[in-house]
Amino acid sequence: MSESPFAARLQALERESLLRRHRIVAGPTGTRVRMNGADLLAFCSNDYLGLANHPDLVAAATAGLARYGVGAGSSALVTGHMEVHEALTEALARFVGLPRALLFSSGYLANVGAITALAAPGDAIFSDALNHASLIDGCRLSRASVHRYPHLDLAALERLLAGTPAANRFVVTDLVFSMDGDLAPLPALVSLCERYGAWLVADDAHGFGVLGREGRGSLAHFGIASERLVYVGTLGKAAGVAGAFVAGPRDAVEVVLQGARTHIFSTAFPPALAHALAASLEIIARDEWRRARLAALVARLRSGVAGLPWRLPASETPIQPLIVGENAAALALSDALRARGVLVPAIRPPTVLPGTARLRISLSAAHSLEDVDTLVAALREAAAAEAARA
Ligand SMILES: *Cc1c(COP(=O)(O)O)cnc(C)c1O
Repeated sequence: MSESPFAARLQALERESLLRRHRIVAGPTGTRVRMNGADLLAFCSNDYLGLANHPDLVAAATAGLARYGVGAGSSALVTGHMEVHEALTEALARFVGLPRALLFSSGYLANVGAITALAAPGDAIFSDALNHASLIDGCRLSRASVHRYPHLDLAALERLLAGTPAANRFVVTDLVFSMDGDLAPLPALVSLCERYGAWLVADDAHGFGVLGREGRGSLAHFGIASERLVYVGTLGKAAGVAGAFVAGPRDAVEVVLQGARTHIFSTAFPPALAHALAASLEIIARDEWRRARLAALVARLRSGVAGLPWRLPASETPIQPLIVGENAAALALSDALRARGVLVPAIRPPTVLPGTARLRISLSAAHSLEDVDTLVAALREAAAAEAARA
């Protein structure tokens, strides 16, 4: 028997400290997670508002189960789109102030579906170099020509827009970059798109619920409205549940509905979760204190890590990236924190650029200031231990 061709590939990943593993977590998510018999203080979830295990959402999901059952039974365009999905879809469009929305089962599926439905071979897509994998995959699958521009470099983007004759042009971007926490300059992007007759496909996975008045997201944060904008919001992060939506002008959303294979050929979203999301939207809008708490936690962390040997690039969002550099060093720092009861996973390429492996610290309104102090103390101890070894 010859050796499996996969063994060598796995060994190469192991050698480069790139092997990924599931961590098995016991019980619900939260700021404390039980893993391998240890209770850890965790800074790794995207549950920014602390809603994933909120009793009102659990109650709404439970009531939804009793009303609608567990499964949708078929895709949305057969019989899977129930009244509860329609009500949620309308509520989401109202929530972000756009004419119409379309529900997807995840953000990955929404991005792939929206881009492939809107852009076609012969069209041109302009994509920020640090965009999320789901946007990148949507661009590739659309078979449009894809032009990457350096992260946030609007001068480079403008040169590309000016120099590309394609009739249909799309600028695709994260609004809050998922591994750095920085914001795309939405007003400038919108005006560029309007000036060059391009469409902006904007992914607000980390802004929805977190930014703007009542957590209405990046459009509210910047006070932006544009006929040229197609918005993607995801519902598994700050909203605490699962799913995503695409929203924008009626005809653009209709084109996504007609063309998104990830919507057409996939079982509709579980109806009980759509019911839970209605409750989530109410809490997001009502609980301003959750966003105020996040801002206080961000400030506490940023002042706490000053003077440590790792760089913490500017970020006003709950995503705080501590840049370590090499993969093995990021893994070692993550292990050192874990030995001190704190869980912050290392993020490595290809999720981030080579040489920028990092601890992606993410904060939640469910954290306390003392939790952040515990993290900072663990980082200081790890830095001191590292200095003693060197
Ligand atoms: C998480 C994420 C997605 C994918 O959303 P899911 O609902 O988890 O599939 C899309 N875009 C960005 C920027 C993300 O961070």
